[in-house]
Amino acid sequence: MVVMKTLRYKTFQYPPTAVSNVPLAEFDFYINNLVAALREHLNWYQNYPAVMKYPANRKMYKQFQVIIRRLTGYLSGEEKPVLWEVKKHDLLWWRIGELVFTGQFSSVHCLSCGDRFVFDQCKIENWSIGEGLIVSGGRNLVCPHGHLLCHVEEWNS
Ligand SMILES: [Zn+2]
Repeated sequence: MVVMKTLRYKTFQYPPTAVSNVPLAEFDFYINNLVAALREHLNWYQNYPAVMKYPANRKMYKQFQVIIRRLTGYLSGEEKPVLWEVKKHDLLWWRIGELVFTGQFSSVHCLSCGDRFVFDQCKIENWSIGEGLIVSGGRNLVCPHGHLLCHVEEWNS
C-alpha cells in the first residue's frame, strides 16, 4: 500500500499578512497534490510572458520554484506528517483554496472543537460582503459543528 505523504498546514481567518489573526484549523494536504497545483501555477506564468516582464512576478516565480523543491524534498524524507511553518508572506496561502474545496486533503483538525474530520463531513458555504460596486466573496469550509476551517476570498468587484 502506498501511503500518500501529507503536509500539515495551519489556516487563519485572514491572510498571513494580517496584523491580528485567528488560527482556524490544521489541514493535512497531500504533498503530491500541492506540488501539482504549484506547477500548474508556474505554467500559468510561463504562458503569459508579459507577466514575467515585471520583477515582482519574476521574484514570486522563483519563490514558487523554491517551495516546489522543498516540497518534493519532503516526499523523499522520513518524517510524517511534515509541518509547514506559515510565514507572513506565505505563497502557499494563495493556492490552498482549490485543494480545500475539492477535498484534496487526508483530514482536517478543527481548532475550535478539537475534532478531526474528512472532507465529506465538512460543508462548503458561499459568502459575500459589501454592496454596490464594492463587493467581495468566496467560499468557506466549515466543520460539522459549524466552525470555520478555511476562509478564501475568490473574487472582488
Ligand atoms: Zn469544529
